[in-house]
Amino acid sequence: MIPPEDPVAAATMTGTSLPIAQESTIRRYVRSLMDRHRGSFTAVVLLHSIASIAALVGPFVLGSLVESLATGGSGMGIDEAAVIFIIALIIQTIFTRATRLRSSILGEEVLADLREDFLKRAVSLPTGVVERAGTGDLVSRATVDIDKLNRAVRDAVPQITISLVTAAFVAVAMFITAPVLALTWLLAVPPILFSSRWYFRRAPAAYRAESSTYAAVSSSVAETVDSGRTIELYQLEQSRIAETDRRIHRWVQWERYTLALRIRWFPAIEAGYLLPLAGVLTIGGLLVIHGTISLGQLTTGLLLTQMLVEPVDEMLMWYDEIQVGQASLARLVGVQEVPDPPTDPTLEPVDDRLIVDDVRFGYRAGKDVLHGIDLDVAPGERLALVGPSGAGKSTLGRLMAGIYAPRTGSVEMGGAELALMPTENVRSQVALVNQEHHVFVGTVRDNMRLAKRDATDEEILAALDSVDASPWIETLPDGLDTEVGSGGFALAPGQSQQLALARLILANPHTLVLDEATSLLDPRAARHLERSLNAVLDGRTVIAIAHRLHTAYDADRIAVVEHGMVSELGSHDELVAADGAYAALWRSWRDAD
Ligand code: ADP
Repeated sequence: MIPPEDPVAAATMTGTSLPIAQESTIRRYVRSLMDRHRGSFTAVVLLHSIASIAALVGPFVLGSLVESLATGGSGMGIDEAAVIFIIALIIQTIFTRATRLRSSILGEEVLADLREDFLKRAVSLPTGVVERAGTGDLVSRATVDIDKLNRAVRDAVPQITISLVTAAFVAVAMFITAPVLALTWLLAVPPILFSSRWYFRRAPAAYRAESSTYAAVSSSVAETVDSGRTIELYQLEQSRIAETDRRIHRWVQWERYTLALRIRWFPAIEAGYLLPLAGVLTIGGLLVIHGTISLGQLTTGLLLTQMLVEPVDEMLMWYDEIQVGQASLARLVGVQEVPDPPTDPTLEPVDDRLIVDDVRFGYRAGKDVLHGIDLDVAPGERLALVGPSGAGKSTLGRLMAGIYAPRTGSVEMGGAELALMPTENVRSQVALVNQEHHVFVGTVRDNMRLAKRDATDEEILAALDSVDASPWIETLPDGLDTEVGSGGFALAPGQSQQLALARLILANPHTLVLDEATSLLDPRAARHLERSLNAVLDGRTVIAIAHRLHTAYDADRIAVVEHGMVSELGSHDELVAADGAYAALWRSWRDAD
């Protein structure tokens, strides 16, 4: 059978530069997960073993009952059989319930571990790695892959474990009853093995193609509905209908293909289940006639063979899910393989002097944004970076804050290279303040303690006060205990910004890189905040990416950045006197004002 197209292309796999874990890493990781949950796992297996043994009572009781009826009532009576049967059923029910409960809890715990391990690594990934791979890849691992693993961990792993335990007990029971009958089970092997191999070689990719072609249909419909007016305006109706039809056609083809796979596989599996039953009946019947085994043994053997169908069926059904889960696990564990850049925790700056030495840097290989920058910022100095948009000011700011490491050259604080210092140590020296202000889910206190783990309420309130946040903090329903962030108390953009600035005060780095720090506020609030910010900046080294020239005017020195290079450097007066790029900018700004 030929698939409608290349399933990999249909599943539109995207390229990625975040690694996908190798077999050995996955194995090591799964082993560490098992180690962490060994107790719970053993408990699940034990509980289910008891349930399985109880389930085996039925076939034996029935076998013995048939035997006693056949031999003239010398064995077990109906009443006795019914009582044993009911007791076994009750035990089975209780232990099956306990197994389900424990395995669900175990599944949730394992999932929580997986998510936490992933998140821990994801947030500590080197910024440059995430930047190059694109955050989309990381987000899709955190959402799509975790979702897929949900099914594997919650259902597939417990079901397969339970089925294996059941199958093992049924097999043991069969060997006790009539080992010769167990041989008939071999009849099931060829149809199940060959058809399943055939099926699983095609199915996973085909199902992925089916779901992504279906996703393409729904996104086409959703896009069309979303932009209905535009489509009407440009009379694109026919082309949209044609596009949707084309996508539906692709999806239907994949649907047909997967259906065709199932139509071939299911009968083969069914045959695999029926052949041993037929075998037990035929061979067992002959053996009974010859007196090799008793009628009771045959009955028990037949029931045991029937009992084996369910666990085998479960294993086959969940096998697919395990494969999908494995692929997702490889992507999740893959982030553990990203190497950390070498750092030296003993590296300590001797003073607060920031020296940028012949720094070159680019976001993409072979395309530098900064072309050899030299700067020397004295402690307490205010340096403004000015220049046209896209010149590299923000990039330079990120390098000076130690967020990115230069490709060549160095950024040193007091003789210690920022790129070689562990992130926490860098943050206690220098911080970047930009437009992105994050409010994290949690209380105001939690948000503030991100900057200083052991900050007291007094310190937190003082920091908030210094950025003029006290007036609204005091009106919060639960004060510092107010829940903020997604789903909590909604903060205005300006308030989030104040929270971020107050966090900065708690972190207390001696050098700050400011990038459009106050742009989210309305001009009046901006001036207000800028005043309190200035008080905060007092005594610290400040590198300000100046988007308003009066910031530059106030600075001790100004560096003009053009095309990734510093073209002019000096005080306002010096640069105006030099009559270069800065002087021209200054004149046009002053005249426009
Ligand atoms: P400025 O702050 O002076 O406006 P930037 O430092 O933001 O300049 O940008 C300098 C150059 O680097 C621009 O060409 C910009 O497109 C590019 N750039 C900035 N940030 C990124 C990024 N995260 N990934 C790739 N290219 C970037």
